[in-house]
Amino acid sequence: MRFETAAIHAGHAIDSATGALDPGISLSTTFQRGADGGYSSGFVYSRDANPNRSALETALAALEGGDQGFAFSSGMAASHALFACLKPGDHVISPDDAYYALKVMLDTYFSGWGLQVEFVDQSKPALVEEAIRPNTKLLWIETPSNPMLKITDIRTLAEIANAHGVWTAVDNTWATPYLQRPLDLGADVSMHSSTKYLGGHCDVMGGALVTTDGFPLNEKLRFIQNKLGAVPSPFDAWLIHRGLQTLPVRMDRHCATAELVADFLNDHKKVEKVYFPGLPCHLGIAVASKQMANWGGMVSFRVRGGASEAFKVANSLKIILQATSLGGVHSLIEHRKSVEGPASATPDNLLRLSVGLEHPDDLLEDLSQALDSIA
Ligand SMILES: *Cc1c(COP(=O)(O)O)cnc(C)c1O
Repeated sequence: MRFETAAIHAGHAIDSATGALDPGISLSTTFQRGADGGYSSGFVYSRDANPNRSALETALAALEGGDQGFAFSSGMAASHALFACLKPGDHVISPDDAYYALKVMLDTYFSGWGLQVEFVDQSKPALVEEAIRPNTKLLWIETPSNPMLKITDIRTLAEIANAHGVWTAVDNTWATPYLQRPLDLGADVSMHSSTKYLGGHCDVMGGALVTTDGFPLNEKLRFIQNKLGAVPSPFDAWLIHRGLQTLPVRMDRHCATAELVADFLNDHKKVEKVYFPGLPCHLGIAVASKQMANWGGMVSFRVRGGASEAFKVANSLKIILQATSLGGVHSLIEHRKSVEGPASATPDNLLRLSVGLEHPDDLLEDLSQALDSIA
């Protein structure tokens, strides 16, 4: 099956009892045990496995080109599970620009727990190779990165890591498996905040990991998922699974409009710089065109002036809403530095825009009038 077809059919089956095209939402936490003491359905207790979660995991694995899907209650819970598979004293390499809460989790929680964490500019593969130590276990990649849209060469870094016996995991949230498939590029794990494009409507939290059958941490991951219990509810799993069905068409539209928005901003005299992997001036365009099918729906830009001009632009928008998060139907804009917190290295005048599914002309007109509001 091609991607668009798998998005609709993977993990979906006709309900044999009712003929419904999709099974219902299985709210029961517990499943009947047979006279022989066995569980003929394969389900025992919903923390360990639930029909909606299993169906979602099947779909996630299919779309990422992997074998095993692990669904979690949030993206942070998914990344936590992977780092928790390591041991105190292990060393991990993380990007210098990455989802802020991940940096905080590694810097505070996991450093206290005994993990050695190093943040490296991964757009330069030589710096990553230099950072590898005898106790390095995991290379964490985020590409495109949040919020600077840095591009990291997954294939090159996975080869370097593999040669040193280091596992590679990629936060694939911004690209989605429709645009980028880390496992095909040599990574061991693809991670998602399903809260974003996979769910696609900003109405459900979720996270996911996808691996192949031979990955040595599979058993431990399943243990952490089931026994620590940061699992999605059946309804959440159902919503994300439904969201996947329209992922390709939504991404096509997100990408097409984002390209128009990036070009518009790039030509605008009130805009100092645009970060979008499809712009010829972007340092990562060559790698992005190799490993991504399209540029994605996220655009960051710096407003001429400082934080107050950036805030004025965000406050003047009428259609584009000011809120955190991304990947939904609404266009959302955010002054990222003031959300991230004290250790943020994000420029003061940077706005991050998640380009939604509205008509492109409405978005361009809205940005135009908002940029006109500053001197
Ligand atoms: C949102 C996000 C996360 C965290 O996911 P949650 O679902 O909010 O826990 C991780 N990585 C990236 C790139 C994100 O955008």
